[in-house]
Amino acid sequence: MTWAEDLASLKERARDIQDLGHAQAVLAWDQETLMPPKAGPSRGRVLGVLSRLAHERIADQKIASLLASVESSGKLKPGSDDAAFIRLVRRYHEHASRVPSELVAEIAEHDSRSQQAWVQARPANDFAAVEPYLAKSVELRRRVSEYFPEHAHPLDTHIDAADEGMSVAVLRTLFRQLRDELVPLVQAVTAKPAPDDGFLSSKFPKAKQLAFSHKVLARLGYDFEGGRLDESAHPFSITLGAGDKRITTRVRSDESDVLYSLMSTIHEFGHSTYEQNIKPEYDGTPMFTGASAGVHESQSRLWENIVGRSRGFWTFWYPRLQRAFSKALKEVDLESFLRAINKVETSLIRTEADELTYNLHIIIRFDLECELMEGKLAVKDLPEAWGARYQSDLGRRAADDRDGVMQDVHWYGGYWGVFQSYTLGNILSAQFYSTALQQQPELAAQLAAAKTSGLHRWMKKNIYQHGSKFTPTELVQRVTGSPLTIAPYIAYLREKYGALYGL
Ligand code: ZN
Repeated sequence: MTWAEDLASLKERARDIQDLGHAQAVLAWDQETLMPPKAGPSRGRVLGVLSRLAHERIADQKIASLLASVESSGKLKPGSDDAAFIRLVRRYHEHASRVPSELVAEIAEHDSRSQQAWVQARPANDFAAVEPYLAKSVELRRRVSEYFPEHAHPLDTHIDAADEGMSVAVLRTLFRQLRDELVPLVQAVTAKPAPDDGFLSSKFPKAKQLAFSHKVLARLGYDFEGGRLDESAHPFSITLGAGDKRITTRVRSDESDVLYSLMSTIHEFGHSTYEQNIKPEYDGTPMFTGASAGVHESQSRLWENIVGRSRGFWTFWYPRLQRAFSKALKEVDLESFLRAINKVETSLIRTEADELTYNLHIIIRFDLECELMEGKLAVKDLPEAWGARYQSDLGRRAADDRDGVMQDVHWYGGYWGVFQSYTLGNILSAQFYSTALQQQPELAAQLAAAKTSGLHRWMKKNIYQHGSKFTPTELVQRVTGSPLTIAPYIAYLREKYGALYGL
């Protein structure tokens, strides 16, 4: 066969693998939104079969020989879509084929049991019940890392899978710089009187919350012809196929905190609008998704925090919110509302943390995850290490493990080497945003009037349309003219919180 025929054969295979993934996504979306509870076990089995089929296909030795033929042909133009296609197929093939399928199956089964154990143990505050699962999880991840001897740290293989090109060594330096900037800023802000945000716990009728989310999505430019908004226990965004990128949100059961559902919606909008605006011709290739977990998160956080918690956004939306929820908000003016939704306080729960303290929660998890993988920290000592770090970094210690080391599903559900993506997303959101403002200064006035289409067009042109054609490192350099840097993020936080808190 010629190299062109081999390339065509690879493309056919890649399309099948993508479509198997989309079939899994349909079932997973249904599982989280509509599926009746009794369907759990059989759904788990079906998802397992699809996942195994997809894994077998990408790990197939035939892919290796086709890749070798195309790579050695010398015919791929550097920078072309085909070259990116081959790079990504190589990357996924290596990740899938180096790890023996028995180990992959063992991990899938273990993770599922571990997550179920956590679901039971967390409300019971029973760390002892999950401890053996966690110890086994660490061991399994260390075994996976052994198949990637090119990585210096046992966590690097897992970090690289989520954020290509990142490593423990790079992140340690980055996070140290970030922490050095954040700690004094948090101290300065929390020394000021805390704004009153009690009114956010009023009752906001659920139907109105969802209707408001729909309106905000429409004005932000969400494509309802190619997506939809539903409810689930945990908000998420998911791609079910070309022309089908969905999001979910959650309204609190007591209907309090309209911001919770609205900000979750805007966050997921950022993920979904990225996927909705990838070049349609990338459908069927591994380019048909975001560049990395961190770059993806830069978009959810850009729209949620930089846009969604800004003065310009609320100058437009707040009168509308007040009209929709007049009982709860009629006595609250815009200034009080803005201070309340940007309230900074050290807290114990990551998902409830504000923009300023959020990354301190991540850095704690990252450091402990490294130590667990290195074997420096035993799983049995993890709750104590967690408490000690919260005490030293945030000045608080959780009363129990439920709100301490057991609060996040990640380690219990098998998600290792992913916490860094949230902070990388925060850093990148500001780096991309400041570049957009430099290149198009008129965006500032538009955003002050809650007109976001110009910013959205810029993101589409520079980031969204490319999917994962470029590596995250290439993309950041190409878009911003510089490698990843915390400077724009720190400047953004200083300016915003300096103004809000009169520093
Ligand atoms: Zn996200």
